[in-house]
Amino acid sequence: MKKQSSSSQSSSAKLQSVLPYQTPRLRDHYLMGKKLGQGQFGTTYLCTEKSTGSLYACKSIPKRKLLCREDYEDVWREIQIMHHLSEHPNVVRIKGTYEDNVFVHLVMELCAGGELFDRIVQKGHYSEREAAKLIKTIVGVVEACHSLGVMHRDLKPENFLFDSPGDDAKMKATDFGLSVFYKPGQTFSDVVGSPYYVAPEVLCKNYGPEVDVWSAGVILYILLSGVPPFWAETESGIFRQILRGKVDFESEPWPSISDSAKDLIKKMLERDPKKRISAHEVLCNPWIVDDRVAPDKPLDSAVLSRLKQFSAMHKLKKMALRVIAERLSEEEIGGLKELFKMIDTDNSGTITFEELKEGLKRVGSELMESEIKSLMDAADIDNSGSIDYGEFLAATLHLNKMDREENLMAAFSFFDKDGSGYITIDELQQASKEFGLGDVHLDDLIKDIDQDNDGRIDYGEFAAMMRKGDEGIGRNRTMRGNLNFNLAEAFGVNEPK
Ligand code: ADP
Ligand code: MG
Repeated sequence: MKKQSSSSQSSSAKLQSVLPYQTPRLRDHYLMGKKLGQGQFGTTYLCTEKSTGSLYACKSIPKRKLLCREDYEDVWREIQIMHHLSEHPNVVRIKGTYEDNVFVHLVMELCAGGELFDRIVQKGHYSEREAAKLIKTIVGVVEACHSLGVMHRDLKPENFLFDSPGDDAKMKATDFGLSVFYKPGQTFSDVVGSPYYVAPEVLCKNYGPEVDVWSAGVILYILLSGVPPFWAETESGIFRQILRGKVDFESEPWPSISDSAKDLIKKMLERDPKKRISAHEVLCNPWIVDDRVAPDKPLDSAVLSRLKQFSAMHKLKKMALRVIAERLSEEEIGGLKELFKMIDTDNSGTITFEELKEGLKRVGSELMESEIKSLMDAADIDNSGSIDYGEFLAATLHLNKMDREENLMAAFSFFDKDGSGYITIDELQQASKEFGLGDVHLDDLIKDIDQDNDGRIDYGEFAAMMRKGDEGIGRNRTMRGNLNFNLAEAFGVNEPK
């Protein structure tokens, strides 16, 4: 693998630039500051414009993480879409882009007010009316996107930030990394998104802009109850729920939520995209429009505490998954890419089971035939008998890395700084600082994971949390390709109609 990765380095060097133009040097114009956050591809830093002293956020994407042409195009598209939507008051404004040999930098408006859920949790007062206001902003962004021919494809609470810590803060959409331009009637088939929020037609590989309304509907359900509408212990279980499950409007707190709210959610979570309410129609719905329809009475406090837990758990998992992902060295990923090329002898961009088996034998891969078969079956969801590079990479990484005990162990010991065998609140605090996560409600988090109630997390508890599959970690920002792997399982479990 070592040798192959060095040749992959040279082949990726051919794809030198993301931007079709030369840019000045970022550091000539900005002073870089502390880390604000980290995503799948980029790290976001605080920065100061030298000429004005104004603060901005700079998302720096290391070019070595862009593995193929498609990845380059994705970043360029993200930049174009941000410019395209930049006039909208609830979209993070892009200020400039810079590129050097190592990074692409997106300088944008600073959102110093934190993520959607954290904000709600911090604020004491929370009612249906507040939720209605938030969803109005979110769907307002969706409507603007759609009227400009863009679908977001990755709407989730983490992608909505507040522009300041103050009470009058505005909420802004970020992360257009999975967004695409579309034409009316055009359909898409690439499986992207995040497990809880992904629409059923995405899983069926045939979809259009209606998917954004679905995701907004999921957010609304969580906003009012503190739990996701489609939930299971595993990712494939979540997909099964999305495809078939019945949404619960009976348990607490639903009996005390207004019928108009429930009615709107049902219209947004309509499985048939043709029958689903449009973004524009959501904005005309009485629960959104008429201030008197959504009650201002405080929601059950259990909703807030579940929301708190949901968001904190999510952050810890995100940190842990990143520790694991960082163990996947560039060499290994580069090696897999070369491996794919080597196997794809006719350069078709896809490989068949026979090609895969032969190829893996040739390179002396340790994968067993049964593993190869399951890799193939898993990645090849449409039963075409072949898989493409993205599917291959995602599925191979998945097989090779995610389930390996040693990776979970490594992640665990990353948190367990003093090697005591337990993760404590202090250690979590330290880790969330390192990752620039800001306010995580650590005691609630520990309570949720700590099954034996000793105030700390042992390895068993940690592993149990990590194995609850609800987090995409894929080739691209979220889970393109990787989803295919689990999707097969999801369908496999379904009895045929
Ligand atoms: P990725 O595409 O890699 O997921 P994101 O655009 O989601 O990257 O950014 C990663 C993280 O950086 C976000 O989750 C957020 O915490 C932080 N971040 C992104 N944009 C801003 C911004 N404009 N202001 C402040 N923080 C930001
Ligand atoms: Mg993101």
